[in-house]
Order: sequence, then structure tokens, then C-alpha cells
Amino acid sequence: MSTTICAATCRDGTPCHGRARPGDDMCFVHSETTRERRAAGQAAGGRGRSMIARTARYLPPALTPLLGSLVEAMEQVHTGAITPAQGTAMASLASACVRVYEMAVVEQRLESLVRGRVIDARAVERSMDDDTETSGDTPLD
Ligand SMILES: [Zn+2]
Repeated sequence: MSTTICAATCRDGTPCHGRARPGDDMCFVHSETTRERRAAGQAAGGRGRSMIARTARYLPPALTPLLGSLVEAMEQVHTGAITPAQGTAMASLASACVRVYEMAVVEQRLESLVRGRVIDARAVERSMDDDTETSGDTPLD
């Protein structure tokens, strides 16, 4: 399979290095045949950005940049700026980041639970010591 380079010139005046689409001399970004799909992708991008803003309110701050990168990657896959395989690799890495984050949260909660139990157990021991001191050593009459 031969790869033809896009015949278009970019906005900055440099030649496009994109891969021409089959049966076309231009890439996805420059081809007239993909104009509607690009417009739909840009609209989806706008919706994606407002979705990021809404969703980010419920995300832990550590994961907010990840969401932005993922939505950007979705747009890039849609417009052909990155390959679907690159998008899949990003999604896979993002998924791994979320799993590590979830593990850290579970560990943190477990640790605070265990710490809470240790504190509770010490409080119970102290109160038991207090009981034995008062009831055991104090004569009743
Ligand atoms: Zn091009």
C-alpha cells in the first residue's frame, strides 16, 4: 500500500504532511469531501469541552487533566489528527491511571478505618483501666 502525502498547504504556509485519503489527494483535515464530518467533529468538541467543565466538578482534582486529554484525544481520532490505535493506547493508559488512583483511595480509606479502630480500641482499654481502678481498688463501704 502506497502512502500519498496531502497536496494542501497549511495555514502557516507550510506543506501538509498528512496522509492523503484513499481516492483523494488531500488528508482528512484538508479534503472537501470531509468538510461536514470535520464540522460535526468541531461541534462535538465544543460539546466535549462543556461536558468536561460539568464533569470536572465531580472529579477528584488529580483526574481532571486526564479527562481533558481524553476528550481532546477523542476529537483528534474523529478528525484524523491521531490514529484510532493511538486513541486506544491513550484510553488504555488513562484506564490504568484511574485504577491506580482507585487503589490509592481504597488504601487511604482502609488505613483511616484501621487507624480509627486502633484509636477506638485504645479508648476502650483506657476506659476499662479506669473501671478496674475505680471498682477494684475502692472499698465499697
Ligand atoms: Zn492535509
